[in-house]
Amino acid sequence: MATYNKVTPEIAKRLKAVVGEKRFYQGEGIDPNYSHDEMPIYGKYMPEIAVDVETTEEVSGIMKICSENKIPVTCRGAGTGLVGGCVPLPGGVVLCTRRMNKILHYDMDNLVVRIQPGVLLKDLAADALAHGLMYPPDPGEKTATVGGNIATNAGGMRAVKYGVTRDYVLALTVVLADGRIIELGKTVCKTSSGYSLLHLMVGSEGTLGIITEMTMKLIPNPVCDVSCLVPFRDVDSCISFVPKIKLANLDPQSIEFMDSDIVTSSAAFTGNPIFPETVNNEEVGASLLVTFVGTDEEELDQKMIKLGRIAEEAGAMDVLVVATSSNKKAAWSARSSFLTAIEADTKLIDEMDVVVPVDKIPAFLIYIRGLGEEQGIRIRNFGHAGDGNLHIYCCSNDLEVEEFKRRVKVIMDKAYAKCAELEGQVSGEHAIGHAKMGYLRESVGEDVFRLMGEIKKVFDPDYILNPGKVCDATLVR
Ligand SMILES: Cc1cc2nc3c(=O)[nH]c(=O)nc-3n(C[C@H](O)[C@H](O)[C@H](O)COP(=O)(O)OP(=O)(O)OC[C@H]3O[C@@H](n4cnc5c(N)ncnc54)[C@H](O)[C@@H]3O)c2cc1C
Repeated sequence: MATYNKVTPEIAKRLKAVVGEKRFYQGEGIDPNYSHDEMPIYGKYMPEIAVDVETTEEVSGIMKICSENKIPVTCRGAGTGLVGGCVPLPGGVVLCTRRMNKILHYDMDNLVVRIQPGVLLKDLAADALAHGLMYPPDPGEKTATVGGNIATNAGGMRAVKYGVTRDYVLALTVVLADGRIIELGKTVCKTSSGYSLLHLMVGSEGTLGIITEMTMKLIPNPVCDVSCLVPFRDVDSCISFVPKIKLANLDPQSIEFMDSDIVTSSAAFTGNPIFPETVNNEEVGASLLVTFVGTDEEELDQKMIKLGRIAEEAGAMDVLVVATSSNKKAAWSARSSFLTAIEADTKLIDEMDVVVPVDKIPAFLIYIRGLGEEQGIRIRNFGHAGDGNLHIYCCSNDLEVEEFKRRVKVIMDKAYAKCAELEGQVSGEHAIGHAKMGYLRESVGEDVFRLMGEIKKVFDPDYILNPGKVCDATLVR
């Protein structure tokens, strides 16, 4: 059982000396938002101290003091996480990277960029574009930090073609729990050089070390792109079409799934009904938004013609080309607003981010809808159909919080069990935090969960880094 010390006035004075008065916050001076992420249903926990760090040396200084005094430290990026990952469960210090937001250096010969962890995803994407390059990972929340994206191994809409954040991390500077600074990885295309601590750090959610600099891989920006909407009468035929797109060698950049319910919410929220709710007076059950990129218009025309042909064979109601740049922008901003649209008209929300084999998506969705009906909870869903990653939201506007939580727990317990039965995983991209630890444990089994805990102990013997998250079940709460 981990136990921690409180921050005494003497320790507070030493922490303040590291970052200076203006970037040190205590008591009521701490932003209340630091007590939660984007999923406040998992609880709010205030830290005793918050610091905005600007350099690796400052992070090291803070960690040395906290390590000597057994003070817990929770790293926070932009706080857009969805599993309570950056929430300081036992209090202590919140170390925020938002001011480490410098893009340091482009190496145009090796197509990499060195950045600080607090750079926002949207800023990296725009800056890379200005250099004629693309940063391929494209998670929905563009105001997340790239450090947070690495710590959660964020995925996003382009993962089906390009992979996830992990695939773009070449090297990291990391501050360990005791303040030591280590370098992991190099600017090389391949490596077989011992255990990959680099990849262990990716997705470790601030529990093994604090990432303070990173070298990210970029690619040349594709010259042109086109998106198509493919509506179907029902979810089953819609999802069955996904492998056909892949088998046709069309190499899509994204294949996003949306059911009719989320389309209606999004239209109400954005005031822009860009996705069709009916085709020839027939109701649409579910749609795919498919994007292709290429080097010239002819290549894309060929892909669209082929898509049209196989869609017709698969029983699609239509294939609608999102042609103009304003329509493209509207379609993708509507797609990106799905979660915000749900939040806008829902009082209580909980979510799961399971990933299942693509052919198991309909079975999982049918099962979860049945659970929603059984428990009187509205289920809304969308997801990255190309990689089997589903975002399922349990919503209510009229239940009391405790009753909502009770019913949602019944749904979650059964849904994660179903996910395991379908050979799925607990999280496709939102990670574990403290909200999903129990489900991770059940999913991987005791041997693997214990091994994860032993790895944590090697990096952080006093359990001061982000206590109570991922596989750290030692926290007394
Ligand atoms: C509307 C919306 C849409 C979203 N869409 C997607 C999506 O499509 N795909 C997806 O994957 N996620 C998505 N997310 C979730 C979220 O944006 C990601 O989890 C993101 O990676 C979190 O980044 P952050 O900077 O906000 O990190 P935080 O929430 O601040 O922290 C997340 C975790 O990372 C750790 N951490 C942060 N910075 C560091 C660091 N420098 N070193 C070590 N650990 C660190 C924290 O301790 C915590 O455990 C979405 C969220 C919202 C609100």
